[in-house]
Amino acid sequence: MAKSGGVYTRRRAHLVEIVRARGITDERVLEAIGCVKRECFIEPGLQHRAYEDRPLPIGLLQTISQPSTVAFQTMLLDTKPGDSILEIGTGSGYQAAILCAMGVQVYSIERHRELHERAKSVLEELNYRALLRVGDGTKGWPSLAPFDGIIVTAGTMKVPQMLLDQLQEPDGTKQGGRLVVPVGDRYAQEMTRVVRTGQDSYESSKSGAFSFVPLVSG
Ligand code: SAH
Repeated sequence: MAKSGGVYTRRRAHLVEIVRARGITDERVLEAIGCVKRECFIEPGLQHRAYEDRPLPIGLLQTISQPSTVAFQTMLLDTKPGDSILEIGTGSGYQAAILCAMGVQVYSIERHRELHERAKSVLEELNYRALLRVGDGTKGWPSLAPFDGIIVTAGTMKVPQMLLDQLQEPDGTKQGGRLVVPVGDRYAQEMTRVVRTGQDSYESSKSGAFSFVPLVSG
């Protein structure tokens, strides 16, 4: 039987406290976790688990990330309303919805057409205005660059150069673009944040171990 809105509303509020307890201090991110209906991004048979802090399967051997991981990557992106953000790996569309809820302009690329179509229809239904396309995200979206932030939601051995090239250079009005990407082998990756500090300069820092599905290029 479908859960009433009230049950999900309470579970969502509880999830915010779980995510906060895991070290997420950015109130704008927590607010977004508290308002996006994660159950809508999950297949019907698993919706009762939507508010556990766990990844869940979304088909085609892919997963919707764990909410605290979504929150952590979003916190590292350090967005402001109006920022232009590129996501690689649309998957269910949940991460894109979180960013939309924070008032940023979201562009997102997914390599599986079926996941793209599903995410597009859920985001439209919930009135989140992200621009999505099917393709190989390792090449970024050159015609829309530069981006204030790029978030990769799949693990990679090497940071794609084309994504670094598409980060905003810092100038008098804008800070340098941020790239948040899990880097490592197939089983474990370190969350890596690269900030563009000039035309040819970048600063990189790492924070914590994660396990993402692989970023597949081509
Ligand atoms: N952000 C998603 C998580 C999806 S899992 C969510 O909120 O649900 C990672 C996704 O990256 C998968 O859907 C996978 O198909 C996709 N992916 C992997 N390599 C890719 C590539 N090179 N370009 C675009 N998408 C890719």
